[in-house]
Amino acid sequence: MPDGPIPPPAQRVDAAVHLAGTLAYVAETAAIWRLDAAAMDRLALALATGDEAALASIGLALPPPAPAPATPARAIRALALTVSQTCNLACGYCYAGGGSFGGADTRMDWPTARAAINALVAETPPGGGIRIAFMGGEPMIARDLIRQTVAHTRSLCRARAISVGFSMTTNATLVTEEDAEFLATHRFAVTVSLDGARATNDRLRPMRGGGGSFDRVRAGLAPLGARADRIALSARVTVTPANLDLRETVAALAALGFTSIGVSPLLTAAGGRGVLGADDFPKLLDAMIACGEDWLAATLDGRAHPFANLATALNELHSGAARSHGCGAARDYLAVDASGKYSACHRFVNDPLGQMGSLEAGIDHAHRSRWLSARSVEGQQTCRTCWARRLCGGGCHHEVLHAGRPACDHVRGWLDFALHAYGRMMAERPDWFDGSA
Ligand code: SF4
Ligand code: SF4
Repeated sequence: MPDGPIPPPAQRVDAAVHLAGTLAYVAETAAIWRLDAAAMDRLALALATGDEAALASIGLALPPPAPAPATPARAIRALALTVSQTCNLACGYCYAGGGSFGGADTRMDWPTARAAINALVAETPPGGGIRIAFMGGEPMIARDLIRQTVAHTRSLCRARAISVGFSMTTNATLVTEEDAEFLATHRFAVTVSLDGARATNDRLRPMRGGGGSFDRVRAGLAPLGARADRIALSARVTVTPANLDLRETVAALAALGFTSIGVSPLLTAAGGRGVLGADDFPKLLDAMIACGEDWLAATLDGRAHPFANLATALNELHSGAARSHGCGAARDYLAVDASGKYSACHRFVNDPLGQMGSLEAGIDHAHRSRWLSARSVEGQQTCRTCWARRLCGGGCHHEVLHAGRPACDHVRGWLDFALHAYGRMMAERPDWFDGSA
């Protein structure tokens, strides 16, 4: 059921189109039009006056007056295995509360991992594809289980002609040469969590026993970086008030050899430590736009730049995909924790707000469908009247359920910048979008 009244027409007109430079972004369909000055003026007038008929006359769809029917859940094709609910770091902001998700330190056992993989493969038709993500805590603490699970998955998938991709999010401090060769052999996508240059990172991401983690991360990166032709290696920066200078952060991580660096603002944390406040979001937007301008200048000049957020946003705009949710959690992706419980994603382990059944009882598909329906952009009043709804998808479920939506102005500001950047890229480097760049 919707969480509020149906929006009035004027609000719907306001949420129908967003103008960005020479582009008009049609919110409901995610279509992008390039208009001449006269057409842009007419459109701006129609929007300013809330003229629904004028918009309709040029073929613009308004947001639906009522929520769409429940979004059907898709078949689950991706699993996150929380192989280690413990960590060797003690990041103050950790969503997993130090890796254990508010419970005791624990690790997944082999019967649980095997049952999770068996259930996923059994539901996947021959010729299909699945993705397995190894998560923690710090997953490399459970390296033997990961190897056993990969070998088992490969063998099952081979027998059923199913393709499989593996990924891992790690702090990299435990990665050895042997680990890196294993990850390369199985073509892992490896995301390394790292928050900046040594001083910043060590303040935000200390070792559990004390002391900084930066030098250990660098040691673990060396064998990964040496296999960059077989490992898709990227960095993920958690942005807190302590590391808002993103240009400095991106430069520091690029100096470590990363060619793909994504930043993610911290909106929720156990105990609220390190989350961004209202005063921080304008600074965050300025910092992201500065990195985006650097990326644009480099790309328009034919050079590579590692800032991944803009590249991702541009590819999404170009694909024309219209989201109903912010991510694939519960849609085609679930997490399995050490006790064998399913949750909507790796952040909902031990969280009653995102439980989805268990290996023993099976996935609770009825609950999954209700959860997805309630959490779609159509199902949420705030999002139904937002021009960015089909790009944003309503935000991260975990963050929204725990912290509400403090960052919507930031999200819209960033997407407005991305739309302007899209206009420039289509005018000057359209080849970048077909991969020929
Ligand atoms: S979460 Fe905020 S920015 Fe995203 S669609 Fe909803 S209202 Fe818009
Ligand atoms: S709900 Fe949030 S944390 Fe979970 S997969 Fe989606 S975006 Fe990521």
